Amino acid sequence: MKPSAIREILKVTAAPDVISFAGGLPAPELFPVEAVARSAQAVLLSADGPASLQYGVTEGHLPLRQWVAAHLAETVSLSVTPDDIVITHGSQQALDLIAKVLLDPGDLVVTENPAYLGALQVFQAYEAHAVGLASDAHGLQPTALRAFLESSPVRPKLLYLIPNYQNPTGVSLTAARRAEIVRIAAHFGVPVLEDDPYGALRFSGEAQPALGTFPGARDCLYLGTSSKILAPGLRVAWLAVTDAGLREKITSAKQAADLQTSSFTQRLVHHYVSQPGALSAHVETLRSVYARRRDLMLAALERELPAGCTWTKPDGGLFLWVTLPASIDTTALLQIAAREKIAFVPGAPFWVGEPVRNTLRLNFSNSTEERIETGMARLGAVIRAAL
Ligand code: PMP
Repeated sequence: MKPSAIREILKVTAAPDVISFAGGLPAPELFPVEAVARSAQAVLLSADGPASLQYGVTEGHLPLRQWVAAHLAETVSLSVTPDDIVITHGSQQALDLIAKVLLDPGDLVVTENPAYLGALQVFQAYEAHAVGLASDAHGLQPTALRAFLESSPVRPKLLYLIPNYQNPTGVSLTAARRAEIVRIAAHFGVPVLEDDPYGALRFSGEAQPALGTFPGARDCLYLGTSSKILAPGLRVAWLAVTDAGLREKITSAKQAADLQTSSFTQRLVHHYVSQPGALSAHVETLRSVYARRRDLMLAALERELPAGCTWTKPDGGLFLWVTLPASIDTTALLQIAAREKIAFVPGAPFWVGEPVRNTLRLNFSNSTEERIETGMARLGAVIRAAL
């Protein structure tokens, strides 16, 4: 496991006078702190209070799993039972458990390129080999997937995808590509892992069902989380896995890792989401605030960035992705940017294989409108100076 040079640089940018578009953080001022406090108190003072402080079953609190199954049916048309759900300590833990169970050293995992850094770190930790395939403004290219699977002498153990406003690019897979990718993966017998932390945070375009609902889809592996729709500090997420054998192994791996996700936070999340309209009203607030921040950032990019720069226009989520003229290495640029009190994440570590060094990720959810305006002006000046 390798230390991250970028994490070291980004530590410098944690100072309050630095405007950071680096972290993948939700807006803390929008956390429903009082509602969460009321849920915490209600859980503790209910007849179930002592159970919320007791050990629980590894697969998770049954009423929460029942809610998750209903929520997945409602939001992504996924038809699963509470028995198909495992509650995990963040979806990051689910990624780790899946990799632990499925991947042997040298196994192949196919991903978009660039891909979510946190997943790449997991695959690397289990000594699997990630293969990043050609992706564009509409996500992974099905032709690249087919060509790779036709020519690969080894069948990959997993196809890992973030179909909605991907981390780091903000790009979404079109409906046609989703259908085609599911068909290709099924044809070649490759399980698809859908990671969907941002799906509910849609500002534009049409909501898409889970990959597991498309014709030909085999066993479903779907990750959801309360992190971006409620609060990441609670660490409550869910994995829907319909293959009973695989689910059993994942549950055993979780038991060995941490016995269970916190009995208390599981009940807290369940209490919060069970209040009629609470979650949907909160998600609606997030959507409207984040959409406005995305729009401001897009307008600022148009205004501040010199010719030769391009960027994605996400339909939702937290991030967008910028490509600068080829002469700029964004890892070096971050050092200069930090001195000018502005931060972003350089694109290099998100690339599987050869990095495209003139790319960077910007987060728009975690900065106020005023800081977006000021920060983007600083970023524009730093880029223009570098050219
Ligand atoms: N998957 C993706 C694509 C993410 O962006 C994140 C959060 N950065 C995670 C998984 C992990 O989320 P959590 O563990 O908070 O559920």
